[in-house]
Amino acid sequence: MSENYLFDRLAAFADVSPHKTFALRPDMDAQSFGQTFHNARRVAAALLAAGLQAGDRVAVQVDKSLEAVELYLGTVAAGGVFLPLNTAYTTAELEYFLSDASPSVVVCDPSREGEVAPLVGAAHLFTLAADGTGTLANALTEVAAEPAPRTADDLAAILYTSGTTGRSKGAMLSHDNLCSNSATLQDYWQFTEQDVVIHALPIFHTHGLFVATNIALLAGATVHFHAKFSPDLVIDAMPTATSLMGVPTFYTRLLDDARLTPDLAKNMRLFISGSAPLLVDTHEKWEQRTGHRILERYGMTETNMNTSNPYDGERRAGTVGFPLPGVELRVMGADGELPLGEIGVLEVRGPNVFKGYWQLPEKTAEELRLDGWFITGDLGIIDERGYVSIVGRGKDLIITGGFNVYPKEIEALIDDIEGVLESAVIGVAHPDFGEGVVAVVVPENDSLTLEDVKRVTAEKLAKFKQPKQILFLPELPRNTMGKVQKKALREAYANLFT
Ligand code: AMP
Repeated sequence: MSENYLFDRLAAFADVSPHKTFALRPDMDAQSFGQTFHNARRVAAALLAAGLQAGDRVAVQVDKSLEAVELYLGTVAAGGVFLPLNTAYTTAELEYFLSDASPSVVVCDPSREGEVAPLVGAAHLFTLAADGTGTLANALTEVAAEPAPRTADDLAAILYTSGTTGRSKGAMLSHDNLCSNSATLQDYWQFTEQDVVIHALPIFHTHGLFVATNIALLAGATVHFHAKFSPDLVIDAMPTATSLMGVPTFYTRLLDDARLTPDLAKNMRLFISGSAPLLVDTHEKWEQRTGHRILERYGMTETNMNTSNPYDGERRAGTVGFPLPGVELRVMGADGELPLGEIGVLEVRGPNVFKGYWQLPEKTAEELRLDGWFITGDLGIIDERGYVSIVGRGKDLIITGGFNVYPKEIEALIDDIEGVLESAVIGVAHPDFGEGVVAVVVPENDSLTLEDVKRVTAEKLAKFKQPKQILFLPELPRNTMGKVQKKALREAYANLFT
């Protein structure tokens, strides 16, 4: 019998334990593994009836729901390529994605049907609301499709990268890219069917869609499925959960809540953080408040997960741990690989690394070497014990008066100042220096002054690294994954020195 490489593996637990609960939802009925996969195959039948052919894209911009998870699984079962889009994208942005990806099926929220319909061309348009209703639900019958044959190398998904520079690019991910990474993580983080995972991440992004969902499905773990991150819901779920997959903002928001205590977290075995840097301060405060050390890992849309702090062994704050089993990682300088302790561009290679950018062979060739190494664009360093740290994005590197300045070094210093909540250091055009260092600081309270920050940076940093301007802001601009939007800051302060 031919196999559907990813779907068969994700469905394997459901096949033997269909009655086990897959998802618990606030104020709604629990749903079993069997029902979830049966629904997925009904969705596959509806997609095939709508004309989907193997390899066709299914572009989806909908709120998070279990039905949206079933749509992901149903697309894979039908032999299609799942293409989730951030719900924040405007109609103009959607137009670009649809024309770039030329999907044969588009699924949107019913409230946007009128705007989206003119953009879909010959594609079939379905609607799916947050409560699961819409024309997709109407199209489902009791007929459940048999999974279409798909090999390890066939595409399962295209995820558009956030596009911090230029247009977003579609990262092509194969069945094996997703499968191999989830299996590695399940094993590395020791997920079993005893686990109950708090799933509060969006599912248009690699973290919530693949890391959290695929691991739970593979392991046969139950998920507390939350439509959005809400500290109240997470706190309610914690006594009956074993793990939380989060971005750093989850942890900082939860730390603000007095209900976070060792007792609340006593059933938990694992707190995972990724997608953006976790401050050392957050790591330490979390341990003081709960007795748990957060496990930080590093990945990206194009590569799935690359590194992780150890499950057993020391989880080092401020680092992203070691390359995962089967993943190679190296630090590159202008003349080749750099020795331990030097900062360079991180490159990774392994079964996790994507197949290239959709319809952009030149971009792919620039970033994915012929021998399989992917140039991540992240700057990193490996210490003497093998722990990897991310120093920032290559494009965030500041070159001032000919000197390289790594924002992370200055941010770490400023974050340590009493009264500072967090900071972002950027380079802005400067008439004399090319770029001038600017520190944007979020004070914790009113007692912090510009002088405090200036004094510490003047004391501790070489002259060329010292911020030429320090600005206070009530908060840093962030996207839904908790990533600080340095591009927005650079744009806002583009004319500071000119
Ligand atoms: P995305 O493709 O949206 O998942 O973004 C990937 C980028 O997020 C990476 O290239 C890193 O710059 C950043 N990132 C992910 N995890 C971490 C982490 N643990 N620490 C620092 N940066 C991270």
